[in-house]
Amino acid sequence: MINRLCIVGVGLIGGSLARALKSAGAVSEVVGYGRDVAQLQLAQELGVIDRFETDIAAALRGAAVVVVAVPVGAMEGVLRTMAPHLDAATIVTDVGSTKGSVVAAAERAFGTVPPRFVPGHPIAGTERSGVAASFAELYHKRRVILTPLPHTDPAAVTTVRGLWQAAGAEVVEMGVQHHDEVLAATSHLPHVLAYTLVDTLARMEEHTEIFRYAAGGFRDFTRIASSDPGMWHDICLANREAILKVLDRYSADLAAVRRAVECGDGAALLHTFGRAKKARDDFKQ
Ligand code: NAP
Repeated sequence: MINRLCIVGVGLIGGSLARALKSAGAVSEVVGYGRDVAQLQLAQELGVIDRFETDIAAALRGAAVVVVAVPVGAMEGVLRTMAPHLDAATIVTDVGSTKGSVVAAAERAFGTVPPRFVPGHPIAGTERSGVAASFAELYHKRRVILTPLPHTDPAAVTTVRGLWQAAGAEVVEMGVQHHDEVLAATSHLPHVLAYTLVDTLARMEEHTEIFRYAAGGFRDFTRIASSDPGMWHDICLANREAILKVLDRYSADLAAVRRAVECGDGAALLHTFGRAKKARDDFKQ
């Protein structure tokens, strides 16, 4: 049971966590902090938070746990404003989609990453943004990755683990760099591909007709291109190295498929498509 939880950035991810913990009875009071009073008022009306503050010192006062749920590009600025007002006993965690950049931001903001700062990332989300899109079930049976550092306080990790478990998630731990490499492949690359495909088609002269006749395959493949461009701009810049590595590999494979199509190499196409179908069929989620 957390006495007072402070959510910094009450959007889809922070709002959904607040809703989940409230419905699980795992928190007594949720305080929201943000820049936009209208959004915070909406969060209060929706019952996502109990009250809000627009002054960071007031928002952090008495909080047992603080969840920072702002875009990764805003992390450093937000952590800097938090630093002078944080009680050493307060546990801080974040939900950013990249972990190397958040750890570096915390290092710059605090001098060294505080032992009670537990970097985290829920592998759950939708293409929608804002508190109005939040829902309590978002984390049910989904994974949350924590990337504690060697000096992170194990008791703080246990608390953050318990918080996500109360929200219905399964918690795993891994290293910061490994997280960023895995997520570059499984999440960041697919978003880059979806955005680029839709953009390519949208700029073709006959795009109205293309979209009119687009069916299920197009919808399945491109849903994530409706995600917030600002958030994905931040992620691509924050995880640049890992994304470039996997993007180069994908580009080489795509070039091989192009060659097979050009040369009429049906065996190569069948080989690639068959291997991919087997891998996709084996993947259960
Ligand atoms: P969101 O719905 O747009 O929420 C972001 C929140 O942060 C908003 O309440 C926004 O409030 C606030 N915010 C933005 N800049 C701020 C600043 N400088 N100071 C204070 N508050 C600020 O986005 P989200 O999808 O919840 O994403 C939040 C974090 O979760 C990101 O780091 C993202 O990488 C991560 N994440 C997202 C997903 C996903 O699928 N969406 C999944 C896993 C992790 P105002 O703009 O109204 O001030």
